[in-house]
Parts: sequence; C-alpha cells; structure tokens
Amino acid sequence: MSVFVRFAPSPTGRLHPGNARAALINWLFARKHQGKFMLRMDDTDQERSELEYEVAIQDDLIWLGLNWDVFARQTDRLDRYRQAFEHLVKIGRLYPCYETQEELSLMRKSLSSQGRPPVYDRSALKLSDADRLKLEAQGRKPHWRFKLDDKVVAWDDMIRGPVRFEGAHSSDPVLYRTDGLPIYTLTSVVDDGELKVTHVIRGEDHVTNTAAQVQLFEALGFNPPKFGHFTLFTDATGHGFSKRLGSLSLINLRKEGIEAMALNSLLAKLGTSDAIEPRLSLEELVEDFGIDKFARGSPKFDDQDLLQLNAKIIHLMSFESVQKSLIELGYDQITEAFWHSVRPNLTYIKDVAFWWSVCHGDIKTPLQDRHFIQIAKELLPQTPWDQTTWSAWTNQVKEATGKKGKELFLPLRLALTGQEHGPELKELLPLMDRTKVLERLSA
Ligand code: GLU
Repeated sequence: MSVFVRFAPSPTGRLHPGNARAALINWLFARKHQGKFMLRMDDTDQERSELEYEVAIQDDLIWLGLNWDVFARQTDRLDRYRQAFEHLVKIGRLYPCYETQEELSLMRKSLSSQGRPPVYDRSALKLSDADRLKLEAQGRKPHWRFKLDDKVVAWDDMIRGPVRFEGAHSSDPVLYRTDGLPIYTLTSVVDDGELKVTHVIRGEDHVTNTAAQVQLFEALGFNPPKFGHFTLFTDATGHGFSKRLGSLSLINLRKEGIEAMALNSLLAKLGTSDAIEPRLSLEELVEDFGIDKFARGSPKFDDQDLLQLNAKIIHLMSFESVQKSLIELGYDQITEAFWHSVRPNLTYIKDVAFWWSVCHGDIKTPLQDRHFIQIAKELLPQTPWDQTTWSAWTNQVKEATGKKGKELFLPLRLALTGQEHGPELKELLPLMDRTKVLERLSA
C-alpha cells in the first residue's frame, strides 16, 4: 500500500512547536514509507482563517525543511462538502436542528444537574415538517447534525493500540453551521476519503472526533484510514500549548536563533523511546523514525532542552552550512578557521558577534598583575602567527616568570579576551591582530 498522509492546520495563527510536531511526524512517516505528504489548509472557519497565516505556515514549514507533495485548501472544495451534505441528508444521517446556543447550553446544564452526560437528546428528530416551517418562518436557520449509529466504534490505533467508543455516549456532531459552512468533522473526512489519505496521524485531542469520523467515512462510502493519536506535550510548567501562545511560535524561536534542525531533532524524539540527540539532517531523522516508538506518556517541551540542542547542533555545523547565515548577520569576513575556533563556544550562530569583537573590536579586560602582563607583552612573538605561536609564547612567559598552569594561562586569557573561558587560544591567537593583542596587554 502506498502511504499518503497530511498535515492539516487551520490558518488561524502562527505555528507553535506542538503543530510543528504533528507536521514533522507525518512528514517523517511519509518519507520513511516512500509515501507522499500533503499540506492541507483547514480554513472553513472563515471568521478566524486568514491568508496571512496560510502564507506564514508555509514559510515555517519551508524553514523546517518539510516540503509537501500535494497542497489542498478546504475553501476550494466547498462543492465537495455540499455533495456529501446532500448524500447524508438523502440517506437520513444528517438532520436539521434549530436550537440556539443558549438553549443548548441550558439543556447541557440541566442534564449535568441530573448527573447525566451532556449528550444532545435529538429533540430535533421529533420535529414535524410543519414545526420546521414554523421555526424557519420565525427566522431560525438550521444547523445540521450527523446521526451517530448506536454501535461500538473500534480501531487499532497506531500509537494507542485498540480503542473502543460507544456511539450512544456522544452527541451527534454538528457538520454544518447555521451560516451554511461545513465543520471540520465533515470536511476532513470528505478530503481524507476523496484524496485517499491512508494514515491520519494527529494529536490525542482528536480521539473523540475519530470515533464520529469513522462512522462518517462509512456513511460516505469510504474505507476509514488507519489512525494514530500521539499524546500532546505540555510546556515546561506542565501546561498545554495554544496557537496564540506567541512567545513559543516558530517565528519567534527562529528570530531568537534556534536552528531548524535543533527543533526537528527535539520534536522527532519527544515522547518516543529514542534518546534526544543532535541530528544535522532530516534524512538522519527518517532513519531513526518509527511510529511504534511513540509512547503513551505526556512529554514536556522544555525550551532549555531546545537551547542545549541548538548549541550541540551548532558545534557540529560545517563552515559551508553556516556561511549563508554568517553573511546575513553581516559577517562576510569570517573565515573557516575562525568559525572552527569559536564554534564550540556558541549557543546561537549570532553569538559569533561576541567572539568577532574579542578578536577585532573593543572589549573590557580586567585589571591584573601589571608586572606579569608586561613581561608577557615583551615576549609576544613577531608575526606571522600559526597554531604553534601560543605554546611558544606561553613557554617563554613560563620560563621568565616561573608561573605555570592556571596561574600562567588564565591571566593571559583574561588579558586577551576578557573572558575566563572561550575558544582554544592556540587557535584564536593567530586569528587576532598583533597590534590588537599588544593594545590589550597594555590596557
Ligand atoms: N485542522 C485540524 C486541526 O488543526 C486538523 C486535525 C487533523 O489532523 O485532522 O486540529
């Protein structure tokens, strides 16, 4: 069987790591099985959907490297949903209801106060044609509910294992709103069925939808796809994500300097039995991927883990792979040797700015033993410098001052860089100007 999966965001906000995870898992599943991946815009909620977000979502996916083979937009397919609507009405599975939001909420309250589940009582099914005409004459417009079969719906979930649902314990879902627009429960099934989606992999918040949707696939004459529902992760404090949670949107992470592969490396492994390790390419993640590795526990998305992973990724990145970013940051003079020497000290690529100014700009250095620094200054070798210069110099300083180990190296490091830690001076020194070094040793 050829695999066809989809990522189906609603363009009502920017993507956050939770959405990106759904996209990534589907993309990896497709690539692992030599299948295809569709990006579908679930944009039938016209009040909240915006073209601006549609564009932004595509931009975020491109940044992550998750290219799509097929693109679909639900508002381009409204006639398909109409046809499904007519079919369902004809076979008696879709019925008009006239209750207002207030009436429904009163009904739910009254059921709850009797200790009964807030399941819609299907009163609309008891309306006669005359009742309906009368309601419509009063200006009421119907919304439409799908009549669930009173049977058990069961499926073998790719992540949760066997799942069972009693049809009678759920409300008949609304498929069409009073404004004549279809709701996701229907549109998704029509698309997944017609476009022949083979596996629906999404968050566990959709399990109840799946129960109704399985019946809907059948009512529309489709074989239901296979389903997999992964547990949603929470943020570091244990709270859920919301699309409106601005600070953790992909665009913000990206602006902060998070590498796409750092996020991918984390999202591909959260909630699985695999260790979270830096991966430089999506191909490596495809290698590791297995939908059966996802467990039932609720993983935490911690930005500190992401930051650590970002640093690890950067420490592995070749000069070639960062050159474009360096130029964008305005550092077109940075050489391969400079990159290799400072790379182990960076958390973000943009941190090169700091080490660049250590080598070429103005920095503050602490006050130190003047006598010692003066001797070091006098012994500073002439250029050209190479990787042997640092040890040649420090050996001479050691002989002249009798200092060794930390007492020898730390004051020199502080004098040259203003920092207690940093790149290997054997590598950094030859990247600095001799006049700059003399200036620092005279400060
Ligand atoms: N538009 C739905 C959502 O964003 C898609 C869920 C699904 O994958 O079916 O939650």
